[in-house]
Amino acid sequence: MSHDPHTLKEQFFQSLYSEPDLFDWIEANATDGLTFGRLAKSRLSWHSLAFCQALGYDAAGNGAIALHPEDESLLRELLAQQQTEAILRFRHGDGSLRAFGSKCRLIADAQGEWTHYLLAHAQICDPGPPHASLEAMVDAYPLFFRHILDAVGQSVIALDTDHNVQFWNRGAENIFGWRADEVMGKPLRSRLVAAEAHSHADQILDDLAQGHDWNGEFWLKRKNGELFPALVGNRILHHPNGAVMGYVGVSTDISDLHQTQAALQISKQSLELAARTAGLGIWQLELATGRLEWNEELFSIYEIGQEEFAQNTEAWQALVYEEDREKANQEFNRILEGESVDNVRFRIKTRSGKVKHILASGAPLRAKDGRIVKLIGINIDITRLIDLEHTEEMARQLANQNRELSQFARLASHDLQEPLRTIHSYTQLLQRRYLDQMDASAQPILTFLAEASEHLMALVRALINYYRLGGGRQASVVDTAALVSEVLAALEVQVKQHEAQFEIGFLPKVSGYEVELRQLFQNLISNAIKFRDPAKKPYIRIHAEPTERGYRFSVADNGIGIPKAYQEKIFQIFQRLHNQEQYQGQGIGLAFCKKIVDLHYGELWVDSQLGEGSTFYFFLTRDLT
Ligand code: ADP
Repeated sequence: MSHDPHTLKEQFFQSLYSEPDLFDWIEANATDGLTFGRLAKSRLSWHSLAFCQALGYDAAGNGAIALHPEDESLLRELLAQQQTEAILRFRHGDGSLRAFGSKCRLIADAQGEWTHYLLAHAQICDPGPPHASLEAMVDAYPLFFRHILDAVGQSVIALDTDHNVQFWNRGAENIFGWRADEVMGKPLRSRLVAAEAHSHADQILDDLAQGHDWNGEFWLKRKNGELFPALVGNRILHHPNGAVMGYVGVSTDISDLHQTQAALQISKQSLELAARTAGLGIWQLELATGRLEWNEELFSIYEIGQEEFAQNTEAWQALVYEEDREKANQEFNRILEGESVDNVRFRIKTRSGKVKHILASGAPLRAKDGRIVKLIGINIDITRLIDLEHTEEMARQLANQNRELSQFARLASHDLQEPLRTIHSYTQLLQRRYLDQMDASAQPILTFLAEASEHLMALVRALINYYRLGGGRQASVVDTAALVSEVLAALEVQVKQHEAQFEIGFLPKVSGYEVELRQLFQNLISNAIKFRDPAKKPYIRIHAEPTERGYRFSVADNGIGIPKAYQEKIFQIFQRLHNQEQYQGQGIGLAFCKKIVDLHYGELWVDSQLGEGSTFYFFLTRDLT
């Protein structure tokens, strides 16, 4: 069919006729000949005489002309119109290779279908004799191309196979400081590479000779001896006939980049250091991806490993303490809506169950067009601060109370006691001497007066005792089990009288003030008997439980109970819920208990149900010895 060159030639002329601009295209591009063929065959078919001659053949060369096998794919790309131009190498009649800049054009039949192609060839340069040197090749290269290479900012250097410089562009002059005439024809390894890196450079050149390109970062040397980092790409240079002619290296000076990177690294490191020192957890949420980034410190605050954190908002929410989750979310949503949020407090719960207090701030980051693209914020662990605040507040309160109390106690012991004694002794005197002389209505008044002054004196004594409580205290290891059995023995009369029953559980040894602790148990136990339900026999349970904060002791009874409204008041001095007729007492027992527990840095409270009983709890937490 169409193999016949004559038919092809006819078709070619037909195309010339039907596509008038084709002629101009050929004239402009086909300086060294033409190839014409059928697309369906994808192969070279008919070559013009000029092309045959360029490859050292006469017209009979049509059958002999061969494309370098490595360039077949380039030809296919041309025919598929993926490219319009390629450098194709053809075998010359003398066996060497010749390179052509070949442009491609497709030609349509009468129906408008692409059926043929046309290649217009222009030989790239005359490579001269097959073993021309790199130097000769560079010289043969058009000046214009050298100008182009000079315009490039990078250094472009070509070396021959003996590693002598054969090409040195303006960029190389600028970067290395050597002028072309200083280095041309000379070896440059020792000029451009620091002595320590010579063997590495040799290695790279060896690899190049083996056909392996090398790209990477390399420290190079300027004329003034200064070393600088460069991005280097090295490739082997082939003669069009395939022989190795040398190497070309393109280097980019990246010292600025290095410095910026180093500065960036330093500021990043100092930020991380500052964050660590200040305990500053930093987070950042990329809205487009939903990815939540944490710094190292934040991971350590939340006590979670980087690999177990899912890096999204939900994963964070899951770590927030349940009761605070809604509040924390609300604040987070405010940032999402564009507000800055400062000094928000919430709690988190770590895997070990520890609850931590977090102080947080956050703000949105906007793009130029005002869109919010990122949220960023900080978390600080303020748990210790809060604990400290708490203890400081307690210490302050205690100091205040103590001051007031000692003033009051001084007043009570001296200023009150004296006149009281006088009243009391005169009342007694009155009773002794004049009671019979008084009329019947005056007698009870005098008796009442005597009783009242006696009661008042008892109160003042109690107050003084309260003030003195713990004054000579001495810390030791106290066996609370032994202590409780001593107390029960001391209360034997009441216990027997009211048939009180006891259930004594675990009671540990603790560090504390023995005398005061004895009084504490005694007050609580005797109250438990005193405030019994008349309808039941007292049943009293005493035990302690170890907790995270130390031992929690409890004294539970089945007595009359305490109304909710009074459950805090009863610990205040002289606070009672009943009159003397109902239950005797001065309302000071629990105030004593509270002070004793305070001396132990503990806490005392009651849980009670009216008519069912009361349980008094207290913590003994610290090592006081
Ligand atoms: P007092 O026992 O001298 O009245 P307290 O300070 O010991 O003083 O107790 C204060 C008040 O607390 C009591 O008057 C009583 O109303 C109430 N209370 C104390 N312990 C109990 C208890 N175990 N059950 C019911 N009420 C109690």
